[in-house]
Amino acid sequence: MFEKLTDHVYIYPFERYTDRPNIGLVVGEKYALLFEAGNSAAHVELIKKDLADQKLPNPDFVAISHWHWDHSFAMSSWDCPSIAGKETNEQLKVVQTWKWDDQSMDERVAKREDITFCCEMIKREYADRSQIEVVPADIVFDERMEIDLGGGVVCHLIHAKGPHSSDSVICHVPSDEFLFLGDSDCKDLYGLPWHFDIEHEEDFVPVTDALPYDRAKVDAYMELLNTLNFTKCISGHAPMMSREVLCSYLK
Ligand SMILES: [Zn+2]
Repeated sequence: MFEKLTDHVYIYPFERYTDRPNIGLVVGEKYALLFEAGNSAAHVELIKKDLADQKLPNPDFVAISHWHWDHSFAMSSWDCPSIAGKETNEQLKVVQTWKWDDQSMDERVAKREDITFCCEMIKREYADRSQIEVVPADIVFDERMEIDLGGGVVCHLIHAKGPHSSDSVICHVPSDEFLFLGDSDCKDLYGLPWHFDIEHEEDFVPVTDALPYDRAKVDAYMELLNTLNFTKCISGHAPMMSREVLCSYLK
């Protein structure tokens, strides 16, 4: 079910079992924008059902925060134009060539192109991995893009970089003093060495909590956040938080 967070912002909440992220919906007078595509066609079916049941508009655009599978793989399941930052899109073109048999997935983990955690979650989400269809975006932007949804509701997509992934894009909705962070505030789970064992999922939180942040990346990221007018924000896999909570955590 979508939850209304501000006048024009709704969220379809994250789920841990297959690492589905928060899906944002911003509704203007003319258009609606979905922020994050979802991780599979099955995920999108659930979202579409709730849009219909809750009499919310179908999206006119779907924008994604970064290339990681859980945010991008369902882009092909939406029948509206998709939007991604340039760096995200370049990586999507690489992932589009990836094969999804066990051996290919294991080889990518060994070469550190992918991580065990994501591979295990992909195997859990997709009973049939031949169904995975990665596509690049229809609309690509460099650094910043504004989308006027009508009625004074504007989405500002900003290439924020940040500590999680260099391609991270955030979505700022000034009318609602709201900011979608994607995973941009999180640690670099692809770059740092850490171990995930599906038999011991309970270790995920303590193990990732113990990983370090790149201080220089966090500082540059916070400098950008300081220029934006927002009071509430939401990260990819956690409930909504206040600006104060985010900033004190990053400090
Ligand atoms: Zn991510």
